[in-house]
Amino acid sequence: MGGHRGQETWSKEDICAHLGDDYDRFLGAVVPPIFQNSLFTRKTVNHGYTYTRVTNPTTEIAEKKIAALEEGEEAKCFASGMAAITSALLHALEQGSHVICPKSVYTPTRGFLETYLTRFGVEATFVESESVEAFEREIRPNTKVIFLESPVSNLFSLQDLGELSRLARAHNITTIIDNTWATPMYQNPIRFGIDLVVHSASKYLGGHSDIVGGVVIGRKETMTEMMHRERGMLGGIMDPHQSWLLLRGLRTLPIRMRQHQENGMKVAKFLEEHPAVERVYYPGLPSHPQYELGRKQMTGYSGLMSFVPKGNDEQIWAFIKSLRFFEEGPSWGGFESLINSPGIGISEESSGRTGIPSGLVRISIGLEQVDSLIDDLDRGLRSMKV
Ligand code: PLP
Repeated sequence: MGGHRGQETWSKEDICAHLGDDYDRFLGAVVPPIFQNSLFTRKTVNHGYTYTRVTNPTTEIAEKKIAALEEGEEAKCFASGMAAITSALLHALEQGSHVICPKSVYTPTRGFLETYLTRFGVEATFVESESVEAFEREIRPNTKVIFLESPVSNLFSLQDLGELSRLARAHNITTIIDNTWATPMYQNPIRFGIDLVVHSASKYLGGHSDIVGGVVIGRKETMTEMMHRERGMLGGIMDPHQSWLLLRGLRTLPIRMRQHQENGMKVAKFLEEHPAVERVYYPGLPSHPQYELGRKQMTGYSGLMSFVPKGNDEQIWAFIKSLRFFEEGPSWGGFESLINSPGIGISEESSGRTGIPSGLVRISIGLEQVDSLIDDLDRGLRSMKV
């Protein structure tokens, strides 16, 4: 801890600004240095470090901050969100295990469960409804993991974290949640009994679209094991320079998330009332079917949402291309507004499998002036002439 401030309890803002910075250890440097070295020599001092594939002091600062933000015992940083997700799954699964997961989960996560892990006899069931009963119905004697993503990719429907973790505990099942959307600012799943929290740090945690990274947070014993096994053996640790950039992103996480939320809410309300919009998917809107559940388990909302414009694929694509502030691209969570189109050109089969309706577009609301974004969307939507 950056104990020089002598605080017992740290607010999230204080954690992001100061926790773990350890000025005494790093010559008072206000920004802790990048330990851009592979090995640590030990002839004269036993400082506990050996090799950067196992641990690194710069990466450890980011891990301390994120563990504290998530109210977990320990965090470990990975080379990407997918490295974090696959490592958490591999840690909790064994040959012949069964996993239950919402059907609209992030596509590469689904791909790992559905294709790659089948080589090891692991089976996955993708539930249609995200109700507790739907998960309960699928539990088998060999179910080892319930994997959640709440709000879920593209559709932003929610799963009940408290009820699902109670259900899982009763059956000795590990719960893992992808908490990338809400960030630890707005949802802390460990409070609700979830075992492992994973993040893509490439989104809001980094916040500047300049790193690819991931994090897993959980109990100390589990995380130490994961550090030696899945992270150490598969070798997917975050690079020290990425960790340093992640630290820079984390310092402004609270203030960025406040702005993403404010902008996101205004854009969602604007879209909901727009005559050229069929439906908006955003858990911050009181019209969201699980608004009350969201208020129970989240303390705020980020800036990623989706909507279905009225119009055919061609018209929607022309709308996307007409936008001035929204670049087209697949990622999200950065300072810049983005749009992409998971529902354009989608087959009926794929729409049924993933739940993504035809015409769905997803927007990541950035930190630009919100009126500029609304004007841009309004002009583009009106030009569709539907
Ligand atoms: N989880 C969600 C919800 C995502 O949207 C993404 C990336 O788009 C990931 C995980 C994977 O993260 P990464 O790209 O850092 O591997």
